[in-house]
Amino acid sequence: TFENLASDFYSFESALTDQEKAAIADLRSYLETEVSPIMAGYWERAEFPSQVIPKLAEHHVMSYSWAETTPFENSAVFRGFVALELARVDASVSTFVGVQNGLAMGSISVCGSQAQRDEWLPKMATGEVLGAFGLTEPLSGSDSAQGLRTVATRDGDEWVLNGSKRWIGNATFSDVTIIWAKDAEDGQVKGFIVPTSTPGYTATKIEGKISLRAVQNADITLEDVRVPERLRLANANTFKDTASVLRLTRAEVAWAAVGVAVGAYEAAVAYSRERVQFGKPIGQHQLIQDLLVKCLGNITASIAMCVRVSEMLDRGEQRDEHSALAKAFCTTKMRETVSLAREVLGGNGIVLDYKVARFFADAEALYSYEGTREMNTLIVGRSITGKAAFV
Ligand code: FAD
Repeated sequence: TFENLASDFYSFESALTDQEKAAIADLRSYLETEVSPIMAGYWERAEFPSQVIPKLAEHHVMSYSWAETTPFENSAVFRGFVALELARVDASVSTFVGVQNGLAMGSISVCGSQAQRDEWLPKMATGEVLGAFGLTEPLSGSDSAQGLRTVATRDGDEWVLNGSKRWIGNATFSDVTIIWAKDAEDGQVKGFIVPTSTPGYTATKIEGKISLRAVQNADITLEDVRVPERLRLANANTFKDTASVLRLTRAEVAWAAVGVAVGAYEAAVAYSRERVQFGKPIGQHQLIQDLLVKCLGNITASIAMCVRVSEMLDRGEQRDEHSALAKAFCTTKMRETVSLAREVLGGNGIVLDYKVARFFADAEALYSYEGTREMNTLIVGRSITGKAAFV
């Protein structure tokens, strides 16, 4: 009997307030009834379901993080559970939110002036303005702190941007893209809010992905793209400022990784109750129970780490290495968990109808984006030894 099995085995959600719990329950109900049933089709067609964007905004998933837009005061642990809920249903939808809310709005919140926050955050929280975050380039991924080739040249009251970007999420339909570029004069990385209608800006969809197919990623080229000084992020002066955005989003990716693991695990538990082999449900076979328990152990350890790293954020104690460890650990455990869950389903583990296959494939992108496991490991390694292995 599996009746008492729950993925939040140690009841970490009890850390939330009643208002936060109600908001999670409401979001879960919307995602399960309206988003879960459509995602296999969108994944297969490699399309993003843009009709979900206004509904996500109604559920405040792009509002909770920012003082300018939040409907009620909330904790980082709560926002982590929001990220988990989104990914538990679909990692593409959670990535869409991660880009809009975490990377694009996060850049404006962390690195923008108050005037820039007031201008952009409210209309991005409603989904009226969609954003993207352009850091990675064709020739610079892990080494983007040093290796960026996109250049920003000051020309009076304007900046002229030249270069190219790769992998930029939401950029096939974004209204603005945050472009990170090296200042031609001082060589430091600066950020710009670039309207995508600006002449010289081109975005082309990346085709043929086998992971996160519903998320739209683009290659961007920038040819003499002119942006006014008022669209330069006022407080982005060096790559350290960019890294302070990534510190926040990496912890959210750790939470999303737990969501992907939970989505796969719950589908595997459901299957193990239904599927009969050798005259009994496969969940009654000892080796299947072993697979499910390994999944639950990974999920429980990962949630514990995420809860703690979010509490550290709320207390102002979270550093780069804290969120880097959570991202590296939780994505590694996610990858193992989706693989074990896929095993529980046998052949049905590789077809979209049974959900696990989508989580299995999507896990690969979460494992690599927002800093690969190796790069997040090296950030932690630097803090342990005091020596950076990657400069
Ligand atoms: P590389 O940097 O070329 O790395 C290749 C391999 O070498 C990796 O295993 C890496 O860990 C390893 N490696 C590199 N350097 C070292 C070292 N010093 N020591 C040990 N190992 C090393 N970027 C954005 O800016 N915006 C986005 O919205 C965005 N969305 C993305 C969505 C998806 C689906 C994907 C796949 C990527 C996205 N990215 C985005 C880019 C992502 O952040 C990069 O893919 C990631 O940082 C790795 O860079 P890379 O792919 O160029 O790999």
